[in-house]
Amino acid sequence: MQKIRYFDHAATTATDPRVFEEMMPYLTENFGNASSMYSIGRMNKEAINMSRNRIASAIGCNPNEIYFTSGGTESDNLIIKGIAIANRRYGNHIITTQIEHPAVLNTCHFLEKYMGFRVTYLNVDNKGRINLRELERAINRSTILISVMFANNEIGTIQDIEEIGKIAKRYGVYFHTDAVQAIGNIPIDVKRLGISALSASGHKFYGPKGVGFAYIHENVNFVRIQDRRASGKR
Ligand code: PLP
Repeated sequence: MQKIRYFDHAATTATDPRVFEEMMPYLTENFGNASSMYSIGRMNKEAINMSRNRIASAIGCNPNEIYFTSGGTESDNLIIKGIAIANRRYGNHIITTQIEHPAVLNTCHFLEKYMGFRVTYLNVDNKGRINLRELERAINRSTILISVMFANNEIGTIQDIEEIGKIAKRYGVYFHTDAVQAIGNIPIDVKRLGISALSASGHKFYGPKGVGFAYIHENVNFVRIQDRRASGKR
């Protein structure tokens, strides 16, 4: 087979052999449902918890703030819709940027079209950066959420996430960042950066396709737009 020379790691990456090796037993022999009570299920639950702990320590949050998803698209939808719907009574305004991934832009369009939200799409300069003063000016009494991507998937611009976190905190607004292009490339400490919620996707940093996670700070008021738990609790 011809060896492929592949440079577009922003689009996707190959699964690292070490990841593949670690996953293999759970795809073949230990394939039990992690919610089952018998050993093959319990064993998998332990593996899931171990992954949760590893991710939490990598980004500086608590394990119970990590939600596994099918990737970046689902994480963006889960977080933005979940926060918007839960906080509708406090305000109907969301701020995002014109250069977000379609997973964020289309979620915002959905909320505008079907749920009565108003969305401000911030412009960017010739380097792809938002203007922080413009961001601050866009905040009003109805603003409940700021969603600004960490790093752009087309031009690679990295936003001043720490400053955006400070602004969000000052105005009492939740701050979501789509970190799909940043995780694995840039060290991220969600608490230090003031991030309320973050989206990530496995296939952008040597994990498999169809796996991702959402971090949602435990104090964030949000509803699960998809929920399969037996208990119905968070
Ligand atoms: N957000 C950004 C910034 C992306 O680059 C991508 C993928 O291209 C996504 C979200 C969607 O991620 P996924 O392919 O895991 O659904």
